[in-house]
Amino acid sequence: MVAELNVLNEWIPEQMGPGTLFVLENAGEMGQEEDPYWAVLACPECGTLGLVTRRQVLGILPVICGSDKCPAHFVLHDDKVVVRKPN
Ligand SMILES: [Zn+2]
Repeated sequence: MVAELNVLNEWIPEQMGPGTLFVLENAGEMGQEEDPYWAVLACPECGTLGLVTRRQVLGILPVICGSDKCPAHFVLHDDKVVVRKPN
């Protein structure tokens, strides 16, 4: 499944629906130096919010949903979210 990535420029929690990305105001200042936290992403399947790192935003590393009940993992690709179904 491929979903559109919806990018918010302002933190508006009510608008953080599934597949929405918000780049942190302090992107790059938290987490590991070589791959810092960069944005908040709402899982395209269930809408659970999670922090994603710069490499995940760039599509180098996949994102695994933080919800216990949701098996989704997905890759960001420009303005798209590509959901990979678990085998
Ligand atoms: Zn999810």
